[in-house]
Amino acid sequence: MYLRAHRGGAFSLRLLDDAVPAAELHLDLRHAVRDLCKAFPDSYWRELDAARAYPDAFVKALTGAGYLAALIPEEYGGSGLGVAEASVILEEINRSGGNAGACHAQMYTMGTLLRHGSDAQKQAFLPKIASGALRLQAFGVTEPTTGSDTTQLKTTATRKGDRYIVRGQKVWISRAEHSDLLLLIARTTPVEAVKKRTDGLSILLIDLRGAVGRGLTIRPIRTMMNHATTELFFDDLEVPADTLIGEEGKGFRYLLDGLNAERILIAAECIGDGRWFIERATRYAKERIVFNRPIGQNQGVQFPIARAHVNVESADLMRFKAAELFDRGEACGSEANMAKLVAADASWEAANVAVQTHGGFGFAEDYDIERKFRETRLYQVAPISTNLILAYVAEHVLGLPRSY
Ligand SMILES: Cc1cc2nc3c(=O)[nH]c(=O)nc-3n(C[C@H](O)[C@H](O)[C@H](O)COP(=O)(O)OP(=O)(O)OC[C@H]3O[C@@H](n4cnc5c(N)ncnc54)[C@H](O)[C@@H]3O)c2cc1C
Repeated sequence: MYLRAHRGGAFSLRLLDDAVPAAELHLDLRHAVRDLCKAFPDSYWRELDAARAYPDAFVKALTGAGYLAALIPEEYGGSGLGVAEASVILEEINRSGGNAGACHAQMYTMGTLLRHGSDAQKQAFLPKIASGALRLQAFGVTEPTTGSDTTQLKTTATRKGDRYIVRGQKVWISRAEHSDLLLLIARTTPVEAVKKRTDGLSILLIDLRGAVGRGLTIRPIRTMMNHATTELFFDDLEVPADTLIGEEGKGFRYLLDGLNAERILIAAECIGDGRWFIERATRYAKERIVFNRPIGQNQGVQFPIARAHVNVESADLMRFKAAELFDRGEACGSEANMAKLVAADASWEAANVAVQTHGGFGFAEDYDIERKFRETRLYQVAPISTNLILAYVAEHVLGLPRSY
């Protein structure tokens, strides 16, 4: 059983025993998240989009209700749920017309700290992350000159006594302006001094509060959708040596550990988007009368919607396959990657179908189709581009030669 306990108007999730059937738990979660999202209708997201503003009220409500602490074990104040449940929460946000991208990283970035941090670090940070008192939703990997080639990243963290001196630049670091902490990957041993290029990278948990102006500059990047993303400039930022997570030089392995959860969760957001687009397209196709009949009576209109539905539902199966493997602690790299690929493709197909079905109104801001279309397009590129997933599948699943 699990309990949704009311706490000062908000409710928190607590697992009481593991025997609750997953389907029941998921259904209950879906209803609860949908209820919360009702207070944040299309107009809420539309206005934020126009102003390129952060959804503070939504994130506050979600945090207060305990959803962003779903993956944090109960001993640290979270709900101790699995990635399957977390994925249902994020899916429902996107399915309601919202955008979980504003805060999804608060759910999973802490995984690196949970799996590789010291007891002292976990005690210091996890309860505050669970309550929302601390936000850890910025993750600094991508760099302007090396992009997808992560092992070549140029940002360095050089040990000097009891400090690291961080120097370099990151790009596309989302939510840094809305996060207290940043999980940063940087090179601690020069690439020439390591045997494998994956060695010598380390993860630091950096307190952003007070860092700006003391060696860190954050510059927002305006994008085609409302996504609080930034460039970070590290100019000899000094951080305490105990910000290191796990062992020095093992950061790349820790990074990989966290990617599967992220890919499954983002696949779920794409599925949420896909279902939203199909719902809107179907509704409009039934209502819109042209040539004296609903446009949805034409197979030329209904088939693309039906095909998009088939593809979203198929992607959903791969999402749950990957999530179940992850939650059982089994290897799920290929499934997580495949789930992300098929879900992102399905949501993008559904987005195109929704625009086409709406004709001219697909382009009108008031219908929200164009906003969601812009939002879901991101997942062909981030957090990993489609080509890099195909390269992974070709090499690691099919045994084809490494292409890069
Ligand atoms: C809005 C937004 C938010 C983001 N948030 C974050 C964040 O919070 N933290 C973070 O670290 N990063 C973030 N990213 C970065 C994102 O992960 C990268 O954009 C993505 O991994 C691709 O890297 P890149 O942009 O450098 O493209 P590149 O690596 O330059 O690739 C450009 C194109 O070339 C293709 N390509 C490159 N190499 C190959 C190859 N060997 N074979 C075939 N095709 C190839 C790619 O598929 C891509 O289509 C974000 C990006 C965006 C746009």
